[in-house]
Amino acid sequence: MQIVSKPINIVIAGGNYAGLSAAKNLYIKLLATNPDYDGTKQAPPNPNVKITLIDRRNGFIHYLGMTRGISQPEYGSKLWLPYSDLPWLQHSSIAVKKNIISRITPTHVELADDDEHVAFDYLVIALGQSRNAPIGVASSTKAEYLEAMSKYQTSVKNSQSIVVVGGGAVGTELVADIKSDYPQKDVTLIHSRDLPIPGPFMDEFRHHVVDILHSLGVNTVFGERVIDEASELESFSSQPHKYAGIVPELVDSIKRNATITTSSGRVFQADLVFNTLGAKTKAPLVDLPSSTDAPIFSPTGIRVTDSMQINDPKYPNIFAVGDVCNRDLVKLAGAAASTGGLAGINIAKLVSALSGEQVELDVSSRGRGRGRGEKDGQRSAPLYGHMKLVLGEYNAVIHKGDGVIPPEVAKTMVAPDMKLGKALKQMFIGTFPVNRKQRD
Ligand SMILES: Cc1cc2nc3c(=O)[nH]c(=O)nc-3n(C[C@H](O)[C@H](O)[C@H](O)COP(=O)(O)OP(=O)(O)OC[C@H]3O[C@@H](n4cnc5c(N)ncnc54)[C@H](O)[C@@H]3O)c2cc1C
Repeated sequence: MQIVSKPINIVIAGGNYAGLSAAKNLYIKLLATNPDYDGTKQAPPNPNVKITLIDRRNGFIHYLGMTRGISQPEYGSKLWLPYSDLPWLQHSSIAVKKNIISRITPTHVELADDDEHVAFDYLVIALGQSRNAPIGVASSTKAEYLEAMSKYQTSVKNSQSIVVVGGGAVGTELVADIKSDYPQKDVTLIHSRDLPIPGPFMDEFRHHVVDILHSLGVNTVFGERVIDEASELESFSSQPHKYAGIVPELVDSIKRNATITTSSGRVFQADLVFNTLGAKTKAPLVDLPSSTDAPIFSPTGIRVTDSMQINDPKYPNIFAVGDVCNRDLVKLAGAAASTGGLAGINIAKLVSALSGEQVELDVSSRGRGRGRGEKDGQRSAPLYGHMKLVLGEYNAVIHKGDGVIPPEVAKTMVAPDMKLGKALKQMFIGTFPVNRKQRD
């Protein structure tokens, strides 16, 4: 690496599956470079680089388990991992800033309630997508998270009739988890289409989902839109948040004592209503003017190349990874981690190159979850996506490429802990990251 008078500033915006993977690979490739490094102690400082991770939370959240966490308090309490449990992230060349990112510009990141702008030479955008709370998780500390989860869990426990609006993956997993844990409750799923799980999947998959929901005793209302909802707003979040416009996660989607009218005129009374309709884009935060005819954002996210750089010649130093980018139509945590890791490797290559040296960047293999619908990639996308749907503790169905793994087989192929253990292992809790070569 060149010795520079001023450290190269690498900023990672968002520190969950994708952002933490980028940070981990930057640690391995730029900090843990001593041949003696074996992961048993902190890597030495590197005065040539400064890595800044910015997130509105001070910990990782395992979204995959959120629906189960809402109905099972003990499991729900394990889904938050404080960054302070990761000693490698406390490295002197890494700064972790807890703040809301209010704007990303071509040169710097702006923070809410802070006049300081964080300038970057390289940027990784790993902001994911937005979902309202509780699924989107409004909390910014573990204490807040545990308090909020306890309120959600108590509300579920104390409600006899629960309606979930929106039959995507989140809505179906939520009704299945609640009904599995509370078989005596009336649990209803309302979805505007004739079958659940929109996206690049075969109807055979959707029919398996419906069969499982019915076997659990979930009432399903398909092909009907909610046209009116009169309710008391559940007051989980204390006040409307100043930044709710750019961080929809800060807005609660739960309502209580609701009267719901659907497009067919049917009326449902519910003690508790969860709205799981769609994820929102992070586009309002990203102020990167396009230098071409194509916009920076496509309908499925920031347009990226296979090296995960923004697909615009003006921004070779800005990478977009995980759910925020358009690589996959079906957004998955594994793809977020692998694209984040790839950005980390590629930035390390660029930073370490000698002046004028041609750098060959690593490229992402197109993911299993991609599904057809994106035309930006150079390789053609498969017709169907990948999805493992875990419907309560004992049921699952898997859509794999262009085949469906039926429930009786699928249920033996899913992790009982919703991959919590795997995600935590990949974070190197209480220790320091090593790549395979260093470990062997
Ligand atoms: C209920 C549920 C179940 C799921 N189940 C599965 C599953 O079974 N399998 C699977 O593979 N995937 C699943 N997913 C999808 C998976 O969670 C996502 O693909 C994954 O979270 C994407 O990771 P990411 O790092 O790109 O984004 P995220 O995990 O969303 O992380 C984005 C980070 O950016 C931060 N951030 C966002 N905005 C700001 C801001 N303005 N300022 C500061 N920080 C900000 C957030 O705090 C967060 O830490 C599920 C998702 C949900 C919600």
